Amino acid sequence: MNMYKVTAAFLTCLFTVNAYRLQKDVRPEHYKLEIISYLGEKDNFNFDGKVWIDTSCVKPTSNITLHSKDLTIKEGEINIKDVSSNDSKTQKISKINYDKENDFLIILLTEPLKEDHKYEIYIPFSGKLDDGLAGFYRSSYYDKKKKEKRWLGVTQFEAISARRAFPCFDEPEMKATFDISIGRKDGYRAISNMPLLNTEPLKEKEGWFWDRFDTSVPMSTYLVAYIVSDLDYKTADKSSNNVTFRIWARKDALSQVEFAKEVGPKALEYYEKFFDVKYPLPKQDMVAIPDFSAGAMENWGLITYREAYLLYDQNISSKSSQHSVASVIAHELAHQWFGNLVTMKWWTDLWLNEGFATYMASLAVEHLFPQWNSLEEEGAENMISVFSFDSLRTSHPVSVPIGDPKEIDEIFDTISYKKGSSLLRMMSLFLGEETVRKGVSKYLNKHKFSNAEQDDLWECLTEEAHKNKVLPGNLTVKTIMDTWTLQTGYPVITVTRDYEKKNAIVSQARFLKDIVNFKDNSNPCWWIPLTYSTKSNLSFHKSTPEHWISCPSDSQVIENLGAQDEWIIFNNKMAGIYRVNYDAKNWKLLTEYLQSEEYSKIPVLNRVQLINDAADLAFVGRLEYDVFFDLVKYLKMEEGYLPWKAALGKTGSLTTHLKKSSVYGIYKEYMKQLLTPIYSKVGGLEISKTKADELESIKLQVMVAGKACKFEVANCIAHSQELFKKLKENPQGENPIPKDLRGVVYCTSLKHGGADEWEFLWKKFQNSNVATEKNTLLNALGCTQEVWLLTRYLEWSLDDTKIRRQDSASVFGAVARNDVGFYIARSFFYEKIKDVIKHLQPNKRRISRYLNSLANQMTENKDEQEFEQFIEKNKDSFSEVKKAVEQSLETVKINIQWQNKHASNIKNILTKYAHSS
Ligand SMILES: [Zn+2]
Repeated sequence: MNMYKVTAAFLTCLFTVNAYRLQKDVRPEHYKLEIISYLGEKDNFNFDGKVWIDTSCVKPTSNITLHSKDLTIKEGEINIKDVSSNDSKTQKISKINYDKENDFLIILLTEPLKEDHKYEIYIPFSGKLDDGLAGFYRSSYYDKKKKEKRWLGVTQFEAISARRAFPCFDEPEMKATFDISIGRKDGYRAISNMPLLNTEPLKEKEGWFWDRFDTSVPMSTYLVAYIVSDLDYKTADKSSNNVTFRIWARKDALSQVEFAKEVGPKALEYYEKFFDVKYPLPKQDMVAIPDFSAGAMENWGLITYREAYLLYDQNISSKSSQHSVASVIAHELAHQWFGNLVTMKWWTDLWLNEGFATYMASLAVEHLFPQWNSLEEEGAENMISVFSFDSLRTSHPVSVPIGDPKEIDEIFDTISYKKGSSLLRMMSLFLGEETVRKGVSKYLNKHKFSNAEQDDLWECLTEEAHKNKVLPGNLTVKTIMDTWTLQTGYPVITVTRDYEKKNAIVSQARFLKDIVNFKDNSNPCWWIPLTYSTKSNLSFHKSTPEHWISCPSDSQVIENLGAQDEWIIFNNKMAGIYRVNYDAKNWKLLTEYLQSEEYSKIPVLNRVQLINDAADLAFVGRLEYDVFFDLVKYLKMEEGYLPWKAALGKTGSLTTHLKKSSVYGIYKEYMKQLLTPIYSKVGGLEISKTKADELESIKLQVMVAGKACKFEVANCIAHSQELFKKLKENPQGENPIPKDLRGVVYCTSLKHGGADEWEFLWKKFQNSNVATEKNTLLNALGCTQEVWLLTRYLEWSLDDTKIRRQDSASVFGAVARNDVGFYIARSFFYEKIKDVIKHLQPNKRRISRYLNSLANQMTENKDEQEFEQFIEKNKDSFSEVKKAVEQSLETVKINIQWQNKHASNIKNILTKYAHSS
């Protein structure tokens, strides 16, 4: 699955496995599933189904337990047959029970099933397509030609919603093959994981048909998918591997599938070569769904997407949305191997799915669009997110014990995706790409159509590493990687140089943001690959470690480190997930060098790490803020996107702390000085035609322009307003605002405008046919300063006729990010919590995005008290997001600590730097 701006999340570790889990006495081997959807009959969202499950009895039992949720089971018709013998003896059922807490359907028999016998379980049932974006649910859109609302039925089963669509053994290890048939009205089409075999009339119902699909490969229930719709498709050119690729969308949006049509087959071919394993299905359908909860879902052979992550309009969509589309497609296709072909045994190893898909996608996008230079960007951004999230004591390990399956949703988060991906990147940098590729290929071949755990991967990688002699014979990948996947957090290494002796002592400790409330006596440690460069020995290209800090560890002494006046930098390529702190002299040497003409000899990623580390070390008081502000002085020469992003991210987070303080004027002056030269260098609000395919420089310009307008640099605001006025005067004409800068211009114009501007964009939002544009508009609509407009916008976020349910959390986020909007969003959340929760059902975990949006901006003691009381009073609403609650509360505490520690001296520092350049 691709997370949709997933925020802080996790789960409680206390668990007793057995209560939640299926017994493995009876195992499914094959499902025959028939579903009739009544879409096309007015207001009939019901469906009827029958399932025949071929099972094998592993251990004698009189209790068949499987999953079913919110389905009506026709109990009297359930039938269990012993099909091992010719007479197909029917088993007598004594009772049917339900365990609602665990979604169990329990069939009790008068006599036990026999070991090694095969049984067919037949269960008829019915259900309803609801609007909760999970299970077999309904979605809708307005068809411009037909001038009417059209409905579709679509599935989203990961993690535990297959049970909402049909009774099944809904755990990833219970793989089986599937024969799926969908009954639907003439004029609709059904698609499923496998190709259509034949279509035949449905005897009982005139004008209805059965679409019967080919037998699937063995797969987990969460990957089953089917759709009934009148969407249309375009077929991509057949690639060398002969896989048929079809891209589906609303008819009105079909012109936006061209880019996906090009990327899909190429990415698939790339993976086949990389893994040296063929894609096992003859086809791949990729479908843009108007209402979709996650970003996308990797169902085998039938991948579903939010429209904004599959559809791209080259005249309207921004360059960075094109990057997202490529990246999400590549992510889902990587899952066809990681997740689909080899699946985690249990959700504990979800990171194997998500970390790999994220990492592989960055390789594939780099391969397909080398001019974008996105591998470096994604590597850096993932690391920076991990550095931030994983410095909370309430974070969690990558490999995380899962008890109650209801907690699974909480781990689709930064840790599983971004830390998982960063760990794989780190590993392929210390073992070498070829070793990792071969090890991974071995792992996939060994476990295909089956399940595995992280230890299985470590084993294959160790074999390959020893063969290629990239690890000493007595060291295994497991020894190293267990310290990274089984523990929460990451280390900071402290480098203390002896300039006389030309050596340095290097030691490790966990990096935590909360240094007041949390005393960690466990002394966690990591196996850390050490690489470094010095001024006279620029070996930044080298990522195989010269030294390891082992675990358990004493500090290491590293010899022969270069002359007294030479700086040293650890962690070439920002390969390892660790921060680095140096002694004062080394920081000074680095700062001076960065301000010289030679600064770019320190490569981009290491510049990013220096900026990010200096800021966060200063944040927690391990470094003087002067070091950070001195370091970023060099930005007057910098033109790279990533260093600027790191710097503006860090200076930007000061806004939260200073916006209500009397120092804000000085801070604003500082930001203005920082931004003025770069704003003019990037071209202000004009994008030259030659730049159109330069992803990084466009991203830099958009980011700088956004900040420039915020801090009133040059004519940013006036220029925005002028462009907006032109657009408003001629809304049907060509949009005068460069497509990439529309977000900035819209937001700025709304911020400095009134109801008129708002209504204009709202209308534009309603009429837009392009999902990426809708997202831009949806965010911009949160920029107004008019209190009543913000309040109404929040109310509309709970009204399906105005804002799609999939977008309600984004609307809330857009309002809460706004300085005025924060207070309105907070009151709204406190007052309407019951309505918000009800609106998000059954995906309650999305409430974590609301919590996170608010917590980030709370900086005062009274905020904390109020927030705590509110949560205490509404405990029930937050029962499924306990970890997100803890993380939010910790974030607030950390914000308050910053105020206590730095509020009094930040004025002096800012005054010094605001006037020093
Ligand atoms: Zn995924």
